[in-house]
Amino acid sequence: MIPFEAPAETILFSLRHVAGAGRIPAWDDDLVQEVIRQFSRLAEGVVAPADEAADRDGCRLEDGRVHMPEGLVAAYAAFAEQGWPGLSIPEEAGGQGMPAPVLGAVTEIFAGASHALQMIAGLVPGASRTLVDYGTPDQQERWLPRLASGEWLATMALTESGAGSDLSGIRTRGEHGPDGWRVSGEKIFISGGDQDLTPRILHLVLARTQGAAGSTRGLSLFLVPSHDDAGARLPVTVTRIEEKMGLHGSPTCQMLFDDAPAELVGNEDEGLKAMFTMMNHARLDVALQGLPMPPARRGSQPNMPGAGGRGKSLARPVR
Ligand SMILES: Cc1cc2nc3c(=O)[nH]c(=O)nc-3n(C[C@H](O)[C@H](O)[C@H](O)COP(=O)(O)OP(=O)(O)OC[C@H]3O[C@@H](n4cnc5c(N)ncnc54)[C@H](O)[C@@H]3O)c2cc1C
Repeated sequence: MIPFEAPAETILFSLRHVAGAGRIPAWDDDLVQEVIRQFSRLAEGVVAPADEAADRDGCRLEDGRVHMPEGLVAAYAAFAEQGWPGLSIPEEAGGQGMPAPVLGAVTEIFAGASHALQMIAGLVPGASRTLVDYGTPDQQERWLPRLASGEWLATMALTESGAGSDLSGIRTRGEHGPDGWRVSGEKIFISGGDQDLTPRILHLVLARTQGAAGSTRGLSLFLVPSHDDAGARLPVTVTRIEEKMGLHGSPTCQMLFDDAPAELVGNEDEGLKAMFTMMNHARLDVALQGLPMPPARRGSQPNMPGAGGRGKSLARPVR
């Protein structure tokens, strides 16, 4: 295993002297420093050591359920036990209400230690923010504290074959019947679509409630639980784990929603606007995931902008 060294001091320097984070109201520099250093210890000591074996072992799909590599199950348990899932979730919902730059710092270190695990656990802040902005008080009360504690995880389910960059092609449907909303359709490329880290998953699903494919009008956002309150599996299944170059420890899933019970989040026909809250979190995460550089690439990128020299990475493994 190549030891991982979290770039905590570089990040703190950038926050203080480049970004001027001290201008943020109620910025507590000592607390932020402690948070970033504390997370670095978890990343270096527990998360990073599990990553290489996780990539070798990969995720397994058995009887419709995804099994994560053992090391990442233990790493996620430690991450949740230390309270990291709630870092940016409002205090009144059980989180710590830390500002976005602190989440960004932790995300960069997390992705450097294990891109695979960060891609799954890192969806919670965006899902939580979406519920804070668009969920009903009842939805917030039922979901936010359990997301903040790490007991449950979340996904972002937009992409379909024929609906990637252009979401007007979405064909998954949300229908309102006598017992409420139901969602049916197939999604692809869903990060953490299933896993055995948590007993329940909150899927935020973009589905069509009006009109036909070919327009972004008529899309609505739904909260679709993987299991009911009693723990029984609902009709949400993984049909395959996508094969990727690298990232075998992260289950990117093809999923089938087969008349799955759902709740509307926000107003009907305004789903894309609500989903953008989550997508914007995911976009920032993808950018932060791009900062750490695998060791094999070091030295092969002589003049990388901002790297300050030959192939130097901000979040770099040390030899
Ligand atoms: C590892 C991984 C994890 C993912 N996780 C999730 C997830 O959790 N949830 C989810 O919903 N999705 C997820 N995705 C899907 C991701 O959001 C899509 O891959 C993305 O939206 C692009 O869609 P596409 O792959 O169909 O590519 P396309 O939309 O087919 O694009 C292919 C290429 O064409 C370019 N292109 C597209 N349209 C135009 C245009 N009008 N003009 C010029 N160029 C254009 C694009 O920039 C791209 O280079 C994941 C993907 C990957 C690889």
